[in-house]
Amino acid sequence: MKAASRAVHAGRELVARSPLAPDLSPAAVHVYTDLDDYEAVARGDRPGHYYGRNSNSNRSMLEQAVAELEGAEAGVATASGMAALHVAILALAPKPITIVATRELYGGTLALLRQDLEPAGYETNFIDMTDLDVVRSALDGAGLALVETITNPLCRLPDVEAIASLARDRGVPLLVDNTFATPILFRPLEVGATAVMHSATKYIGGHSDLVAGVLVGNADVMSAARARSVRTGSTLGPFDAWLALRGLRTLDVRMRRHSDNGIALARALQMMPGVARVYHPSLEGSPSQAVARRLMPEGTGGMLAFDLDGGRAAVQRMLSRFQMVRFAASLGGVETTVSYPEITSHRGLTPAERAELGVGSGTVRVSVGIEAADEILADFVQALAN
Ligand code: PLP
Repeated sequence: MKAASRAVHAGRELVARSPLAPDLSPAAVHVYTDLDDYEAVARGDRPGHYYGRNSNSNRSMLEQAVAELEGAEAGVATASGMAALHVAILALAPKPITIVATRELYGGTLALLRQDLEPAGYETNFIDMTDLDVVRSALDGAGLALVETITNPLCRLPDVEAIASLARDRGVPLLVDNTFATPILFRPLEVGATAVMHSATKYIGGHSDLVAGVLVGNADVMSAARARSVRTGSTLGPFDAWLALRGLRTLDVRMRRHSDNGIALARALQMMPGVARVYHPSLEGSPSQAVARRLMPEGTGGMLAFDLDGGRAAVQRMLSRFQMVRFAASLGGVETTVSYPEITSHRGLTPAERAELGVGSGTVRVSVGIEAADEILADFVQALAN
């Protein structure tokens, strides 16, 4: 099946009299009449569920569906994207090692590495993943590489295919945060990544109404990750799993519209008054355009950023003029939202660290939604007039 069909059907096998849409199963526990049967299910030798923290039918469907879409053997759904990242790192590197990571990581990921893993003995090396010479030397001696497919907020594309090949040559597992691209636009396992995680809170859910994470990879790594998630209690609840799977069904059409609207807004913003610079991976002249064409030929999604002259005051004026676009700290929903990295995703960094990443007081991140493109553009035009 192609990704569009897989998104609609993955994770479920329908037989006669199956409900077409999955039932929601909130049960925390299942009953058994046979001790051998219970033991076989608890060991994982027989399909079934016995306790909600260990497994649940709605969670299993979501795990299976995302695994199928990413081309993975198995998946683990967690209570948030951060929980997915945490169990992924601990499954791939159970003992302290050096983690080589993109320097423009999502702020929450940066905080996890610095505030939880560094005190536990892990070393971190934050590098420019778009510079393959830097990647090559950083990987020597590393125990794990962590990369986001589209950087946040300036939307640059590391060459994940080349990074995977360098990592594989050195025996370093590569964990990819594919939240911004989704398996519709890019499947990192196909180019050699070891495991892929998502904040399903974003595009997979797609409607700004749930918090969830999903991790996929080979059966051994997923079994280790699942065990950690079960032990630490970070598994995903049934209703959020049900909602995430419902969101996944329309992921293909949404990502195509997000991509079309994203590039249309990026091009239009370049002409708008006060906009000093626009960051979009497939924009003409973008440093990521060649990688975007090769790795994501069908589009790069709805994320972009721009620098506004006039800093925070100019950003505040734009926000107060918006009629349809909203300010919100998250992304990936059907609605167009803007975020202000200085006080949202990158608030944990010092001004100097933000400046080093190119995030200034005029930097605005946009999650372009699926509304009519001309109406999104018109809202920015009127909000930025004069
Ligand atoms: N990864 C990326 C790229 C994100 O943007 C986020 C959240 O914004 C996360 C991970 C964390 O996901 P969650 O908020 O679902 O824990």
